[in-house]
Amino acid sequence: MVSRLHDRLSTGPVICAEGYLFEFERRGYLQAGAFVPEVVLEEPQLVAQLHREFVHAGSDVVEAFTYYAHREKLALIGREEDLEALNRQALQIANEVAAEHGSLVAGNICNTNVFEPDDDDSQRIVRDMFVEQVSWAAEAGVDFVIAETFSYAQEALVALEVIKEAGLDAVITLAIHRHPETRDGWSVGDACRRIEEAGADVVGLNCIRGPATMLPLLEQVRAACDGHLAALPVPYRTTVAEPTFQSLTDPGCDLLPDGRPFPTALDPFTCNRYEMGAFAKAAHDLGVTYLGVCCGAAPHHIRSVAEALGRTPPASRLSADMSRHAFFGNDERLRARNQEFAGEL
Ligand SMILES: [Zn+2]
Repeated sequence: MVSRLHDRLSTGPVICAEGYLFEFERRGYLQAGAFVPEVVLEEPQLVAQLHREFVHAGSDVVEAFTYYAHREKLALIGREEDLEALNRQALQIANEVAAEHGSLVAGNICNTNVFEPDDDDSQRIVRDMFVEQVSWAAEAGVDFVIAETFSYAQEALVALEVIKEAGLDAVITLAIHRHPETRDGWSVGDACRRIEEAGADVVGLNCIRGPATMLPLLEQVRAACDGHLAALPVPYRTTVAEPTFQSLTDPGCDLLPDGRPFPTALDPFTCNRYEMGAFAKAAHDLGVTYLGVCCGAAPHHIRSVAEALGRTPPASRLSADMSRHAFFGNDERLRARNQEFAGEL
């Protein structure tokens, strides 16, 4: 039987909105630093609402908000006893919203920050963390599991193995830091190829890099892999000199508490919707079939990605129409006096 993920991929690109941590941090419902999705337990209706906003904007996937809801992170904030309840609640919310719209539902696991490539004990701990989260996702009946933002390709391979043991499809994405290789020292193409050969249904890159510095790496991934590829950049204007959102500097601002814009002062670097649409089109032209936006994403970015791929999600009904703008428009009902004043605005 063809899975729902493969079924959707066979009809065209799949869009997945991410970036829930950053959005809820901005809204004041979780804390920058530890970045734990406590909002799932405290304000579940807000999580459901943000899922709905992303679906309205064109996301095909409702991703359960279990990013950083793993044992290590919960222990860090002294809430380890809430681990299972948080995961199960996030999965239930995702299922409910997906059912409203016929969306795909994804479980979600991510980098643990305790993986040590040369330490068997750490790998056992990491595996156990994945096993518990993936088992809750499997019990919730998700269509697939997203395992994301891995610096170590070897940690991604552990995640993939656990997802496959649970009999689920896996979308595996790596986070590539300043040096264009994984933290294990594998080239981006080599790492993705190994993950693909190990059985990932979709493999690619997410987070950390903006469109300008992720796109060149995707060419390497395309050259190395045969199957479905994923690309979910952060919506920030990263550059060759500052290729990641952690490395961005803002010399014009002397108010930054830690001297760097990441993670709470990235606003002036935010890509506009047209830039995110252009990225989606360019990545799709390269052969990327699973597209989205990571930390920093807002619904207008997702709508733009959808429209760049030829979609008209519900939110497209209200995509910009400046012909009726009082000053810049050309609608005949507008007042000429205002149109003539446009250059003075
Ligand atoms: Zn991210």
